[in-house]
Amino acid sequence: MLESRLPLGLGVSLEDLNPAQRDAVFSLDGPCLVLAGAGSGKTRVITAKIAHLIGNAGYSAGQIAALTFTNKAAREMSERVSLLIDKSQARGLIVSTFHSLGVRILREEAKHLGLKPRFSILDASDSFTLLQELCASSNKKLVRKVGAQISLWKNAMVDADAANRDAASEDELLAARVFRNYQATLSAYQALDFDDLIGRAVTLFAEHDEVLFRWQSRLRYILIDEVQDTNACQYQLLRQLVGSRAQFTAVGDDDQAIYAWRGATLDNLRQLTLDYPNLHVVKLEQNYRSSGRILAAANALIANNPKLYEKKLWSALGPGDAVAIQSSDDEEDEALSVAIRISAHRFERRAKFADYAILYRGNHQARVFEEALRREKIPYIVSGGQSFFERAEIRDVTAWLRLLCNSDDDPAFIRAITAPRRGIGNATLETLGQYANDRGVSLFAAACESALATKLDARRLEPINQFTAFINRYEWRAAREPAGALLADLVKAIGYEAFLFDQDDARSAQARWQNVLDFCEWFGKRAEEDQKNLLEMAQSVAILNMLDGREDSSDAVRLSTLHAAKGLEFPHVFLVGCEEGLLPHRPGESEAEDVLESRIEEERRLMYVGVTRAQRSLSISWCKKRKRARAYEERLASRFIAELALEVAPFAAAQTLSPGERLKGLRELLAPKPKPEAPG
Ligand code: ATP
Ligand code: MG
Repeated sequence: MLESRLPLGLGVSLEDLNPAQRDAVFSLDGPCLVLAGAGSGKTRVITAKIAHLIGNAGYSAGQIAALTFTNKAAREMSERVSLLIDKSQARGLIVSTFHSLGVRILREEAKHLGLKPRFSILDASDSFTLLQELCASSNKKLVRKVGAQISLWKNAMVDADAANRDAASEDELLAARVFRNYQATLSAYQALDFDDLIGRAVTLFAEHDEVLFRWQSRLRYILIDEVQDTNACQYQLLRQLVGSRAQFTAVGDDDQAIYAWRGATLDNLRQLTLDYPNLHVVKLEQNYRSSGRILAAANALIANNPKLYEKKLWSALGPGDAVAIQSSDDEEDEALSVAIRISAHRFERRAKFADYAILYRGNHQARVFEEALRREKIPYIVSGGQSFFERAEIRDVTAWLRLLCNSDDDPAFIRAITAPRRGIGNATLETLGQYANDRGVSLFAAACESALATKLDARRLEPINQFTAFINRYEWRAAREPAGALLADLVKAIGYEAFLFDQDDARSAQARWQNVLDFCEWFGKRAEEDQKNLLEMAQSVAILNMLDGREDSSDAVRLSTLHAAKGLEFPHVFLVGCEEGLLPHRPGESEAEDVLESRIEEERRLMYVGVTRAQRSLSISWCKKRKRARAYEERLASRFIAELALEVAPFAAAQTLSPGERLKGLRELLAPKPKPEAPG
């Protein structure tokens, strides 16, 4: 088999399924659950089933929705499906995340919710700012805690009244109070936050039977990948959509549940069997991804967790390479050693850079690896990192877009009118804010009222009038002109480039300006592909990730968090930073024993996700010390390494050498001596 074979088995057909997978694909009269370990072809079942539904079972694409966990997974699945069936047959198929489906439902049904169809979606940082104001506190930790509590409530479908009634502590009482004001403010802005995208759809369906019936008859078959990570709210949405017909297929793996901290609960998996007594459960036991030794290590590791459902995976791919364990002196040593080994290994196996992934627990771990890879001239892509959309310059531009869509979006108004500053000072803004408050209208509406002239003199009023006229003009054009060109025009018209250069030194201004240009280009391209105008595009920006689309094409090593690597596979995986305190992650100080135990189990599942991403080789590394603040801290190998129950630790001998010697030794050990890849 070629080292460069495409990931995720492009071009699957029904013949390429084993009997259990076929059972799942052909099971059409009632709910079906595929419960199986990593790499057993669950996602393949979903794509094959979509093709089967459309190709053989008489469904039209528009009657099917497949729900995935990330935008990236959604795109990948659409691509896979389009290889199986005709493009024209696939038109109307919904492959999206729960959040995108929520947005789609809410935009169409906005009038039932007292929302305008062009409502805003508040990003995490906007909601943080809002929460900060409502908490009247500069204590970020407190604000984050309140935000997390509100989010958990929303995902558990507890409203502000119930939260207030049932609050069990001072903290919860505060959070409940903030919750109420937070909701009121969102509704004044005509905005929803991320949790609302699903929560509001659930309430909508609960309160409007006719709307629910419409969606039920529109979406006649639902498929869900990674069902173990759905939260109560998402599960509810699923239940509503499938109704009593219960035509759906869910696939998942309880051993890969890694989102408990975001409110996902394995109870949903248990609940499925209770809610749907006729649930057809299919188990898959053959792993097609990893060679034997990797799979054995994964099985041994996860055997340490209590089991919801018993599963045993086997592989017909042969034993393959031994799992390597490597210790390093510190993180720089580790990063350099990984970079050197990738170089040598790639040469030896005639592999591509894209065959390699470096996986870690937290985003902050990426930096040293980036440096080492750059030093070794190895191309790389960081995924699952800080979102591009969180950059200040992108948030400025998207604020303009949001305001064009929804003039009630006050946070967008404030951001747009001050980036760049348009001769409107803080005092003027305060007066405007006061006036809007008194009148009970949004800032934009207030800015358009003629009576504002009684509060502001002509000199101050003039730039405000110019601003509102500008917005109105662009809104008019937005419905008529191509999105990409119009956005470029807008950015130019507001003088954004000069603004960046005024603010920053030339180098970072240039970098930020480049980000804006990249964004405009992506925006235009995406709008063209999806045939959307600027307003329609702007409404989906908040839930898209522009890095999604451009990642896969280039030949580069992938750097990713373990969470973001879920569902993916790579020929060669480096799982780094496997230390106590990092993986498993350092627990909170005040955690009770039972919480601690379940936390370790979740960390173990995360490690399991990492191990099972590897197809042919897996190298696990840890550091003996690591920099924290400015001092080095001693580290211990993760308990999970021992739990892999490996026979030997191949690189252990190198530990007694100095780092310099070791790297030299490594270079020699891995010096290119090309040999053909063993058949896999
Ligand atoms: P995960 O739990 O990590 O999400 P999964 O169960 O979804 O894994 P897939 O990604 O669908 O597994 O499949 C893993 C790999 O095995 C893919 O490369 C896929 O193409 C391949 N595969 C799955 N089923 C078969 C099969 N019947 N024959 C050959 N290859 C298969
Ligand atoms: Mg999968």
